[in-house]
Amino acid sequence: MLAEIRGLNEECGVFGIWGNPNAAHLSYYGLHALQHRGQEGAGIVVSDGKHLRAVKGEGLVNDVFNEEKLRSIVGDRAIAHARYSTDGGVSGIEGVQPLLFHSSTGSLSIAQNGNIVNASHLKQYLERQGSIFHTSSDAEVLAHLIKKSTHSPFRAKVKNALTLLKGAYSLLILTKDEMLVARDPHGLRPLSLGRLGDSYVVASETCAFDLIGAEYIREVEPGELVVIDNNGMTSEKFADVTKRAMCTMEYVYLARPDSNIDGINVHMARKRMGKRLARECAHIEADVVTGVPDSSISAAIGFAEESGIPYELGLIKNRYVGRTFIQPTQELRERGVKMKLSPVVQVVKGKRVVMVDDSIVRGTTSRRIVTMLKEAGAAEVHVVISSPPMTDPCYYGIDTSTHEELIASSNTVEEIREKIGADSLTFLSVEGTVDSIGREYEDDNGGLCMACFTKDYPTEIFPDTILPHEKELLR
Ligand code: AMP
Ligand code: SF4
Repeated sequence: MLAEIRGLNEECGVFGIWGNPNAAHLSYYGLHALQHRGQEGAGIVVSDGKHLRAVKGEGLVNDVFNEEKLRSIVGDRAIAHARYSTDGGVSGIEGVQPLLFHSSTGSLSIAQNGNIVNASHLKQYLERQGSIFHTSSDAEVLAHLIKKSTHSPFRAKVKNALTLLKGAYSLLILTKDEMLVARDPHGLRPLSLGRLGDSYVVASETCAFDLIGAEYIREVEPGELVVIDNNGMTSEKFADVTKRAMCTMEYVYLARPDSNIDGINVHMARKRMGKRLARECAHIEADVVTGVPDSSISAAIGFAEESGIPYELGLIKNRYVGRTFIQPTQELRERGVKMKLSPVVQVVKGKRVVMVDDSIVRGTTSRRIVTMLKEAGAAEVHVVISSPPMTDPCYYGIDTSTHEELIASSNTVEEIREKIGADSLTFLSVEGTVDSIGREYEDDNGGLCMACFTKDYPTEIFPDTILPHEKELLR
């Protein structure tokens, strides 16, 4: 049940381009830059203005595409998706996006990042009205809502459908005539707009623009629907923004350090988190600081700079093993952590080590690393975490697990310290996290979602009814 509520479109990266004869190849490069957001599958749908054609597959971008396949999808407009899904999701090729739907009124393709919290209710409602679903993906629910709408033109149908969705979504919709780009009214997941010569580009992260040489224009605003066609770009609001809530975990862990989110560079934000952490635990005496590669290196550098304790390469990552979370069972996850990281004995032997990591979810990584460092001869291991204790699950498309699995949901900091075997354990405070990210929005929390640390969810999380005015929209 929880898996169903939490949805199936975990993390993920989306990319779109309009008005470029190399749309397929540029999408492929864009997906490469977004590979860290999803390694389970990838797809590109291209249009030549007449037809929509897809190439999709399971695995890494490089496993899915080759020159021949890219040449088979000719056109000047495309949307693309890199997929990450947990064991709660639809596995296999069926769930790989962009989804492509054909009907007598034309074809439609959707690529989505995020999770729609009322998708299962909308789906049940649509099923009662006769819709049949092929996958359990949120994108398919959206396709049915669009198709069902009696509004006209197409963008009005999309707008109508979007007003029914609750939760987090950054999405791209492609038809033969236009590309529509939308972001949920809280702006939970990132989405940026750019230009490459005369072409428009859209991506989950700005690092995709850098890789293809595109220029950043601006963020897609929360509650904004952007429509790009051969006449250019237009924009309209489909919802009022009551509370901005950009995902804090994007800054902490998910996004690539060279990306900028709302104009804030992710590496610099992480470095500030490390610096602040050093001030918040100034009592720790240590000989070396080391970070867990790759996501914690920026925070570890910040910690070292502020504390004056030298930064060292205490842990090495084997680059050819995927992210820890991709292995579905706890046993496999533990084996994965072991395969992924090795200590540099010469650096840690006999030393008091500060080990910086970005987050503790289940506690597996920290426990294994502390054991590893101690086995390598570390005299003391002080674990410092550049985010607050994660006490609650995410319902917006990030795999942070259920209450039962979240170690901070039922343990105090001291209990966690004991469980992971560290000599001390410090988490960055909530205020420290907000200040370090440094967003200038007027809200107390800088327009951030911090629900997995504070329980302050920006939307309803268990919407169990479809309201009468929403039924009207569904007619
Ligand atoms: P755990 O071992 O369960 O405590 O997970 C903590 C580790 O997972 C940290 O080293 C993080 O870098 C990483 N991490 C945090 N959030 C996520 C996520 N949503 N998906 C994958 N890995 C994550
Ligand atoms: Fe991000 Fe946590 Fe909010 Fe989920 S609950 S969107 S992981 S900050």
